[in-house]
Amino acid sequence: MSSIQPVRGTHDLIGEEQRRHTRVVNTARHVAGLYGFEEWSTPIFEDTRVFSRSLGDTSDVVSKEMYSFSDRDGESLTLRPEGTAAICRALVTNALTQSLPQKVFYTGPMFRHERPQKGRYRQFHQIGAELLGAAEPLADAEAIAMGFAVLEALGVAEHVTLELNTLGDAESRDAWRQALVEYFSAHKSVLSQDSLTRLEKNPLRILDSKDAGDKTLLPDAPKMDAYLTEHSRTFWAELRRTLDVFGVNYVVNPSIVRGLDYYNHTTFEFVTNRLGSQGTVLAGGRYDGLVSQMGGPDVPAIGWAAGVERLAMLLEAAPAAPRSVVLVPVGAPADAAVYGLLQGLRGQGIRTEIGYKGSLRKRMERAGKQNASHVVFVGEDELARGVVRVKSMESGQEAEIAHDTLMSNAGTVFAP
Ligand code: ATP
Ligand code: MG
Repeated sequence: MSSIQPVRGTHDLIGEEQRRHTRVVNTARHVAGLYGFEEWSTPIFEDTRVFSRSLGDTSDVVSKEMYSFSDRDGESLTLRPEGTAAICRALVTNALTQSLPQKVFYTGPMFRHERPQKGRYRQFHQIGAELLGAAEPLADAEAIAMGFAVLEALGVAEHVTLELNTLGDAESRDAWRQALVEYFSAHKSVLSQDSLTRLEKNPLRILDSKDAGDKTLLPDAPKMDAYLTEHSRTFWAELRRTLDVFGVNYVVNPSIVRGLDYYNHTTFEFVTNRLGSQGTVLAGGRYDGLVSQMGGPDVPAIGWAAGVERLAMLLEAAPAAPRSVVLVPVGAPADAAVYGLLQGLRGQGIRTEIGYKGSLRKRMERAGKQNASHVVFVGEDELARGVVRVKSMESGQEAEIAHDTLMSNAGTVFAP
């Protein structure tokens, strides 16, 4: 029978890949803790409306990337394509809009029906942060600084640039939108089919287009800057001032509008040139209207998400495979006698393994494969004298150690 293949765009995490992945997630979790964020986990699937209401009909995610299905009760469910909408849903349904602000960290798999390529999968993983219930630019600066601190802790910050923009408040956006519609309407013949639709539904999205023809129109398109209200202008200046104080460098890039509908004021992306065209590793912005779209009160919020696979690829060195102490009993009487030692070492926090069967030679080969740091031999003679022989695989040196020492003070014997 032919074997069944993994679903297109999915991948298994094994060995080095899993270790890179774990490093990214654990590092982010640690840094998030330092900034006072608490971890939440929400379900992998949600009522489809959680995403369709929030991300916008014309967003790529809702219009063509969602994994939606009706379950046996005929309910429309969707495998989550992103985390923010679900966190907002959870804020409302857990009645936490009464205890703001909430600082949330999350991680887990996300699902999007995209064309798979390097750094782009159908099941991928994100780490993310949401700061709910703070309207001040200090919150934006803190969320961004936390993202940057994650990149620093991973040792990838020097390969990454922060691109920052503002979309202003609703009033600014309306005025700008009006100007964009006028500009693009005058160049309809150049616009792609997709962008002609966007012109009707969401002209800002044209600025995010990857179509070559559309792109020629972008340099001369009206800039948000000219349409900012007094309030938006003050907010924007305050954000940049705070980032300066926090020591986070950025470049202003007016074309950072982001792919989802819900952003206002701040938008940003950390980008790298080391991953080909999949160069955005961490991205986010402010989304003051989203919680009320979920049926909750007005809750101002800012957040970001980062692709774990992309960060894992950026890591300079893969975390080393863990090394074990491997027990090798020599001769039948020793076999059962080492089980106490096996559990005694594990009880002292030492990673310890034993071959399940085989000759001395087989077991030594296996110890090599298990990446042993030390091999502990126990034969009849050693048993009788209450000792074991410990061989360091690094130096090749052997030493006789009292069995009791290993049982009570193994840390000193196996110190790295
Ligand atoms: P892109 O423009 O690359 O499609 P996006 O705007 O759709 O990105 P977001 O929804 O903001 O991405 O997701 C945040 C991050 O999650 C991205 O910057 C990226 O690192 C990662 N990401 C998004 N989609 C994928 C995917 N299909 N495979 C792997 N990582 C992804
Ligand atoms: Mg996308």
